[in-house]
Amino acid sequence: MLTCHEVTQLASRACDMPLRLKQRLRISLHLPFCKGCRHFKRQIGMLSRWTKNFPNAVSPLPTDIGSSEKS
Ligand SMILES: [Zn+2]
Repeated sequence: MLTCHEVTQLASRACDMPLRLKQRLRISLHLPFCKGCRHFKRQIGMLSRWTKNFPNAVSPLPTDIGSSEKS
């Protein structure tokens, strides 16, 4: 059985690339017994979907944002 640390590492990696079937199975064996990892996986899944749906939301603010205050 995976440790919580391993589950969070794999769940993070799953945002960037698909996991192997064996890894997904091992995570799914851990989650029913661990509220913390279930919560983490749900949070990171939401974050991943959000950044994919709104890629512009994570880009930095425009640099000329303060220039209108001077004039
Ligand atoms: Zn856990």
